[in-house]
Amino acid sequence: MLVIKSVTSLRSKLKQYKKQNKSIGFVPTMGALHDGHLSLIKKAREQNDIVVISIYVNPTQFSPSEDLKQYPRPLKQDKVLAEACGVNILFLPDDQTMYGKSPLTTVTVDQLTKTMEGKSRPTHFAGVTTIVAKLMNIVQPDKIYFGQKDAQQVIVIKKMAQDLHFDTKIVVCPIIREKDGLALSSRNTYLNDNHRRESVILYQSLKLARQKIKNGEKKSKIIVDFIRENILNHSHGKIDYIACVDAELLKDIKTLHGKVLIALAVKFGTTRLIDNIIVEVQ
Ligand code: AMP
Repeated sequence: MLVIKSVTSLRSKLKQYKKQNKSIGFVPTMGALHDGHLSLIKKAREQNDIVVISIYVNPTQFSPSEDLKQYPRPLKQDKVLAEACGVNILFLPDDQTMYGKSPLTTVTVDQLTKTMEGKSRPTHFAGVTTIVAKLMNIVQPDKIYFGQKDAQQVIVIKKMAQDLHFDTKIVVCPIIREKDGLALSSRNTYLNDNHRRESVILYQSLKLARQKIKNGEKKSKIIVDFIRENILNHSHGKIDYIACVDAELLKDIKTLHGKVLIALAVKFGTTRLIDNIIVEVQ
């Protein structure tokens, strides 16, 4: 596995591969790799000749009150895991490389970024779309891989890629969970034992909500209230939002139909966890 820190070196290496008609799969991450990340890397490994991943804790997607400084950075371990999964190139830029030339350009996506995560974290998605656009432009992969764990992020990035005519196929991979259902996240390491135990209520509530819908419930308010009560009755989690929306446009829906995204964010202590499911409603 090559570890490359500069854009010039990465581009020149990738040029060689592209000349040989090798397909490039790219997985952008913030590191602290877990089985969720590794599932994306493995999918990229299956589908491409060359796998590139990036590890970069992107400061512009954190607000000043968030956990940029304490975000875990176990680089040695990440390198071992990436290499074991068959990564060919680990791109490891620093802030100077990504933002050093006093950039005046930000990539933003309207509307889709105003709800759910965007309401609680108003500057978050501009940071995400800007860094993903930069990375996609540097790597110019055939395929790029994202996790359904960040459901809104996937929708926002798909729209950005469509609007800016990126010639890269976006591949979305399913959520990888712990045995007890908690969605894997680099932030799970922040949870104390009590919060970790209680956190299983998120996926349990989503699954119960899915069952309720399968049993015929069609009112989104009833589903949202049901999830809220379930979480509040079984944990000390502080609910940030619970959304029951159209899975493509993220629009609120009163009566459930078609592909519905049920997504939530809940804080346990200072740790904010997100999770979601998609339900097909007839
Ligand atoms: P991050 O390092 O948190 O920016 O995540 C990098 C990529 O891994 C994103 O596309 C995430 O959606 C994806 N990811 C994170 N956790 C999971 C998970 N539990 N299952 C599947 N994908 C995940």
